[in-house]
Amino acid sequence: MATVEERYEHLEKTIRGYNISADLSQIRAAYEYAREHHGNQLRRDGTPYITHPLQVAQIVAEMRLDSESIIAALLHDCIEDTDSTYDDIAKRFSPTIADIVDGVTKLTRVKYSTMEEEQMENLRKMLLAMSKDIRVILIKIADRLHNMRTMEYQTPEKQKKKAFETMEIYAPIAHRLGMQKVKWELEDLSLKYLDPVGYDDIVKKLDEASREHGAFMTTVQEQITQRLTEMGIQNTTVYGRVKHPYSIYRKMYTQDKTMDEVYDLFAFRVLVDTVADCYNVLGVVHDLYKPILGRFKDYIATPKPNMYQSLHTTVIGEAGIPFEVQIRTYDMHAIAEYGVAAHWKYKQGINKEGGEQTYEWIRRLLENQEDADAEDFIHSLKIDMFADEVFVFTPRGDVINLPAGATPIDFAYSIHSAMGNTMVGAKVNGRMVGFDYVLHNGDIVEINTSKSAHGPSRDWVKIAKSSEARSKIRQWFKKERKEENIAQGRSSFESELKHAGLNMNQITPPDVLPAILKRVGFQSLDEMYAAIGYGGYTALKAVNRIRDELIHMSKAAAVEKAAAEAAAAAARAAKEAGEARSAAPKRVKSEKGIVVEGLSNCLVKFSKCCTPVPGDEIVGFITRGYGVSVHRKDCPNADPGRRSAGEEGRWIKVSWGEDINESYATSLEVVCKDRPNLLVDISTVLSTCKVNVSSLNVHSTADGFAIFYITINVTDARQLEQVMRKLHQISSVMKVNRPAG
Ligand code: MN
Repeated sequence: MATVEERYEHLEKTIRGYNISADLSQIRAAYEYAREHHGNQLRRDGTPYITHPLQVAQIVAEMRLDSESIIAALLHDCIEDTDSTYDDIAKRFSPTIADIVDGVTKLTRVKYSTMEEEQMENLRKMLLAMSKDIRVILIKIADRLHNMRTMEYQTPEKQKKKAFETMEIYAPIAHRLGMQKVKWELEDLSLKYLDPVGYDDIVKKLDEASREHGAFMTTVQEQITQRLTEMGIQNTTVYGRVKHPYSIYRKMYTQDKTMDEVYDLFAFRVLVDTVADCYNVLGVVHDLYKPILGRFKDYIATPKPNMYQSLHTTVIGEAGIPFEVQIRTYDMHAIAEYGVAAHWKYKQGINKEGGEQTYEWIRRLLENQEDADAEDFIHSLKIDMFADEVFVFTPRGDVINLPAGATPIDFAYSIHSAMGNTMVGAKVNGRMVGFDYVLHNGDIVEINTSKSAHGPSRDWVKIAKSSEARSKIRQWFKKERKEENIAQGRSSFESELKHAGLNMNQITPPDVLPAILKRVGFQSLDEMYAAIGYGGYTALKAVNRIRDELIHMSKAAAVEKAAAEAAAAAARAAKEAGEARSAAPKRVKSEKGIVVEGLSNCLVKFSKCCTPVPGDEIVGFITRGYGVSVHRKDCPNADPGRRSAGEEGRWIKVSWGEDINESYATSLEVVCKDRPNLLVDISTVLSTCKVNVSSLNVHSTADGFAIFYITINVTDARQLEQVMRKLHQISSVMKVNRPAG
């Protein structure tokens, strides 16, 4: 086994191989710093701890990342596992490097528990959101890769747990970042622990197949290479490989196939310099072997969402063995293998500063991706655009997505209204915090509730960041705090009432209260108080309406009293006269053109059932509280035969005054056989008669009739009659009625 120093030498050699300007003295300083701080710590396999950061740095170097990344990789466990601090690293190396190490540490501290499928996506987003610098997630992936490679020394429980996390979280992230090579290795290593039997079976069969078909592989490679040389295509690389175990495993499961049925266990790659060469090579391959129809894919013309570019084709070789050929340029290959890491490196050469422009470039890369999966992908990768979201954990390990600046209040209400409403305290990462504590990515939030909680405080509305929490808090005040709202509403109502010179005794009598409540639109006074207390209604508005209603009622009461006196006087007079001869009505000033026998200043309204107009024969009815209601004499509601005994005295004589100059609303019902343009003809008649139409509704019947309900304003019965006659003359109009009753 290599010594620590040998491993370090190997790392330096790898770095020198791609980065001549690498800061090797700082890299060595970081290596020594880490070695010193990890001291005598050992890994589970008994090797010094420093081998782990060294190997992580090696993976990072194989991704061809910059010096800062290598240094941060060497230091990545220092803050977490040694007495080293952020400040110390910032001072010794640089604040940027300290930031990266700190970022990796935070990702390391995220604790997962077994989660449901839908939680995974949030978790992946959270990890990306926490990696403000793309290098943080790249180093974290390298860290995970090395841990997976050395997982055999862990307990079976830990193996399964880490393998599950890797399969569900890190491999998909690697995939999204386009890091195919890492993704495959992570998947294979995870499978090894998640389904050891299935994994061993596939690996064994792949070994057999490659032994059995070794000669075939060599032949194909030679055939292609030779043909390319003949064609004069320069600088090509051709190699064969067996596909990786997890891709076969997945095909077997998703397509329910046995290993023998899985199509292509073998694949060849041809790497060339230019895109034109790619298509030339494709021609050569299709000429040498028989292509399988429908298996050609041009990811050069249409790159995959993660920017993967390549030509794929499946062909059949000698002995009927199918195999896939992938053809791409060296640049495309680098991107296929290292994904964002490769992009990042390229960009780095152009822009030494890194930072903003690097992300701008990644953003652009991501925004070019179009399909639905890509949209998700873009969202996940807008690392510095995650400023508006924060991801936290429940104690169970579910990830909750909240707006940036969210507090324990937002968290509690996002779980359940009841949790928010009974919240008495909050813990973040095991420590008590205030309700206004601002949550950070990865925080584990625990809410303490109590059945005897007083419920939310009104301040919470201001503290909460999410509209969900705010509306749930308001909802609570509206519903649950009725008692308090009633008390508060009642006191402001009573003071407003006093201010208006009124008192409660005026509105509470049983013959008054129903009209009052009807006027303010509530079922009970408590309900009105609650609305005032909650702020949905104002005390001033309530008092104004109640005052109006009281005035109205006293006026109506006066009318009723006078009417009763008049009726009594008439009865006395009739009795005195000894015969049934009605006294000549005393003409007084009319109200709305109506003269009520023996009364002046009388509240009058026209009944809606029969809408009388001047000229109609009419009668009046003294209502309780609303003055005299005027009906047509032929209205069924005014039919003396239908009057009850107690009401008899309330029916009084009314007549049209002489000073009528207003117009009166009345209703018509026009029954027609339906036909085209009927409505136009009716409208024309109404407008030539110069009547105002205030409403017009049509009801069509299934048997071809149309019934028009029209409300018009007319001056008197004569005009009305004229309108009715003209309407009746319209062809297909069958009946024109004045509805009543
Ligand atoms: Mn580590």
